[in-house]
Formats: sequence, structure tokens, C-alpha cells
Amino acid sequence: MTDQQASQDPGAVNPYVRTAGDVDATPPAFDDTTTPLARAIEAELRAREGLTFSDPLPRPSRTRVMVVANQKGGVGKTTSTVNLAVALAKHGQRVLVVDLDPQGNASTALAVDHRRGTPSSYEVLVDGMTIAEAVHPHPEIPGLYVVPATIDLAGAEIELVSVVARESRLRKALAAYELISEEGEERLDYVLIDCPPSLGLLTLNALVAGDEMLIPIQAEYYALEGLGQLIETVEMVKAHLNQGLSITTILITMYDGRTNLAAGVAEEVREHFREQVLKTAIPRSVRVSEAPSYGQSVITYDPGSPGALSYLEAAREMAVKGAGA
Ligand code: ADP
Ligand code: MG
Repeated sequence: MTDQQASQDPGAVNPYVRTAGDVDATPPAFDDTTTPLARAIEAELRAREGLTFSDPLPRPSRTRVMVVANQKGGVGKTTSTVNLAVALAKHGQRVLVVDLDPQGNASTALAVDHRRGTPSSYEVLVDGMTIAEAVHPHPEIPGLYVVPATIDLAGAEIELVSVVARESRLRKALAAYELISEEGEERLDYVLIDCPPSLGLLTLNALVAGDEMLIPIQAEYYALEGLGQLIETVEMVKAHLNQGLSITTILITMYDGRTNLAAGVAEEVREHFREQVLKTAIPRSVRVSEAPSYGQSVITYDPGSPGALSYLEAAREMAVKGAGA
């Protein structure tokens, strides 16, 4: 049976799920949230029963502006931005995604219009449009908002060169946005900025605007290559442009538990970054890569799949860590 059949056939035996009979015969289904597996089972049961994520996460004391960056392409920046944003919103957090990649993949996955001419991150960076004017609500998920990227953004790297304070355009725009604050029910809990795969002016704008960096690292052979350059850039930004920036979160992506290589890479990343690395690694899964073509996150596309459960768990870890910070 394929992965797809298993997750669509309600009668299929799935080791994560207790059957209705089991649930009747045993104590309440949601009485144990002490381990990731127990929470995964709970999330799975809730998802399958169509229940809401009635277990809200702690709201941070003020909006956390998180930059999702790694100059390597294809390491899971966009996938992680989209799925963490949806996971957080499903847990009752108020989340804004800023798409800073001209490819607009995060905008596509979040089902937000990003045709040329749509108010977007380009207008914010280059024309000084406000965030409020460029923000689009997610069509289905309450509390989730997107500043999309249009193809115009491809020209921004060059256009920005001659613009005043070219590296702090996004910072200025976010600072002027009233929902990024410490107060008010309506305020945002998270801003997640999806960066392009380069260390140019777009990524620099994100680093200057952010409080925290979230670095997705793909569990593969060359995973750590290039990280030195990224960290040098972060140090430069901290020294000259944004003292408040810190690398708080590392997420291991596309983890294939069957290979020694992935395990070795994950171990190396954990040794190197220690407490920044989330305990939850995101497994490699076809469902994760299929979801965007349906304008969906894996969490809405296949809520019970391992990819969805991992992103929900990673979001929980992020929120709990941040609440203590
Ligand atoms: P980036 O934004 O860093 O360039 P993406 O998030 O676009 O990377 O991911 C690169 C490719 O890998 C995409 O095709 C995406 O669908 C796929 N992908 C990402 N995460 C996973 C995963 N956990 N399992 C399988 N495919 C994945
Ligand atoms: Mg991307």
C-alpha cells in the first residue's frame, strides 16, 4: 500500500492511531502530553476527527520577527516558513508571512494572489508602500496573513542599490506597522520572513529587520557547507546594522531516518549549535512536497501525515522556547 492510500483509507492500520474500540476501552484519549509521540498521537486524533487545535500555544510577550534564511537553495526555507506559519495559526497564534523570494513559492503555497500588480513586498521595499497596504489575509485560515512576492521583486536587488538606506527598508516598514507590538489582542505573534537563496540585498533587508533567525538545514552531505559564510554575514549585520539579531532556531529538514548519513549530519548540526536546534526534525515525505501545488500546506493537505505532525510539533517547540526567552 502506498503512503497516499494509507493516509486516505480510514480503515487502514496506522501505528499512530488507536481505533475507536481502543479509545473506548482505555482511559481518555488526550490524557498524556508528556512526550512528542503522545502529542503526535493527540494531534493525529484531533486532525482525523476534524477537531480544532484546541490546545493553544503561549503567546509571546511581543511580536517575534523571525528571518528564515540560508543562502543555499532547496533546503526547506519556503516549506518551513509556510508550514510553521500554518501550524502556529492553527494553534491560535496570529502570524504574518513576508515573502521575500521573487519566485513567490510561499505566496503560492499560501494561496495568495501574487500576479504582477498585486500589492506586495516589492512595493514595500522599493516604493515605500506600507505593510498594511500590502497585506493579504489567507483565504481560509483565520489569523494568518501574507505579504506576497511578485516577479517584480526579481528586479529589486538591483533597483535597491540606488535607494536611500537600502538595507533597512523592510525594518522601517515593519517598525511602522502597528500590529507588530507588545500590546493588543489584534497584534501579531509572529512575522516569518521567507528569504531567497542568496545573501543579497533582499536577505540583508530581512536580517536587518529581524529579531531572530531560523535556519533550516537539510540533512544531507553538504549541509554545513556555506554556513560559515551565513554566520559571518549575521555577525556583520549584528556589528553594524542590527544588534538585536540572534540565531535562535535551527530546524533539520528532509530527514531520512533510514540512512546513517542523515543521522550523522543531524548529530553534527546538534553538536555545532546545541540548544538552538529543535528536537523535532522534519522527515522527508512526498506529502510535504505535493501540498504546495494544491495551494496548501501539508498541515491542511494531509493533517495526519508525519510531515504535518512534525511541523506542528516544531511550531510548538518554537513557541514554548520563545515564551521562556
Ligand atoms: P528553499 O525555500 O530553501 O529553496 P523549499 O522549501 O522550496 O526550499 O524546498 C525545496 C524542495 O524540496 C521543494 O520541492 C520542496 O517541496 C521539497 N521539500 C521540502 N521539504 C521537504 C520534505 N520534508 N520532504 C520532501 N520534500 C521536501
Ligand atoms: Mg524558497
